[in-house]
Amino acid sequence: MQHNDDLGFDSLAVHAGKFHDEMGSAVSPIYQTSTFQFENADHGAKCFQGTDKGYIYTRIGNPTIGELEDAVARLEGGYGGIATSSGMAAVNIVYLAYLAAGKHLVAHNSLYGPSRAIMESLYPRFGVQSTFVDATDPENVRAAIRPETSLLFLETPANPTIGITDIRAVADIAHEHNIPLCVDNTFCSPYLQKPIQLGADIVMHSMTKFINGHADIVAGMVVAASQEHYQKLRHVMVNIGCNMDPHQAWLTRRGLKTLGIRIERAQENAMKVAVYLEKHPKVEWVLYPGLASHPQYDLGKKQMSGPGTMISFGLKGGLKEGKVLMDHMKLALLAVSLGGIETLIQHPASMTHSKLSKEAKQAAGISDELVRLSVGIENVEDIITDLGQALEKV
Ligand SMILES: *Cc1c(COP(=O)(O)O)cnc(C)c1O
Repeated sequence: MQHNDDLGFDSLAVHAGKFHDEMGSAVSPIYQTSTFQFENADHGAKCFQGTDKGYIYTRIGNPTIGELEDAVARLEGGYGGIATSSGMAAVNIVYLAYLAAGKHLVAHNSLYGPSRAIMESLYPRFGVQSTFVDATDPENVRAAIRPETSLLFLETPANPTIGITDIRAVADIAHEHNIPLCVDNTFCSPYLQKPIQLGADIVMHSMTKFINGHADIVAGMVVAASQEHYQKLRHVMVNIGCNMDPHQAWLTRRGLKTLGIRIERAQENAMKVAVYLEKHPKVEWVLYPGLASHPQYDLGKKQMSGPGTMISFGLKGGLKEGKVLMDHMKLALLAVSLGGIETLIQHPASMTHSKLSKEAKQAAGISDELVRLSVGIENVEDIITDLGQALEKV
């Protein structure tokens, strides 16, 4: 699984993980099977002992899923990947692998809604404690660490505030205390940010977003930086049973091939859209890592290879005006999710982050007027025309 090669990102996105197929098909076949036949009884026993690498059962491993796992792990520069049925399955296997009764999590206060909500609603039943801090100041992370802290969890840029956390600084704090650091890299994908190179021990993705990129799959991935973390995480995935399906893996592998060119185009569009919004008289504020007005503009430039495609903004007036805007968008879909080829618009306070308390939203900077835009690959003039006509209605 450890690969050292010097292929570029897009070459790896197209070719990485491909296995030998006897028929010579250019695209790997889908092994749509739940189980695998052993050659004989001894072979079966060896597969279970691990002395033979043969496949056993799809929840444990499958060639089609394995190709995707290897490809994403190589793009992230990690030891190995563990594909999961969804991004939330990936979040949960990380939580389950490192947390237990009496243990404690420190995480950024502006996370994907359910990543935080389950920590406050479900995990306390099992005696897990958590503290959410503004990790954009790494000293807040240090101050929240307790003797029983066993996992640090970041999302950067964070959903939906686009706040950027210094991964290297938090990784140094984590390792001073011997605590693993997991980074949710969904908002960037490995094309824009490589947390393992910056010191993270685990990277996770909702591949529903950029990696698949076509809004037709829900899928997740965890990439471990070392064999030790990999084994721990895979054990949880296999036994919880949140494995990916082979067909889902095949479609996601197909989406991954164009990750680089999709992000390049959408990012170019996002930069133009952000500039347009920032100048618009009805827009109060815009948060986008490519604008010099972003509070962590320099840090973003340092740790990300580009500003990405996610923009948050607020209209003058607030939520009422934002709703008029959303209701009048014609090209952009009023829908949650992100990172796809189509432009999406949504309102986090009443949609993706509605399960958080008023106080939690306030502390995390998720204001009522915040509207989140995921810019797609359409012609940018059409996206701007769409925003313009909707803003006229406000
Ligand atoms: C969507 C998302 C998730 C959850 O992923 P699903 O595939 O919807 O289960 C986790 N983290 C982030 C940042 C996300 O955007």
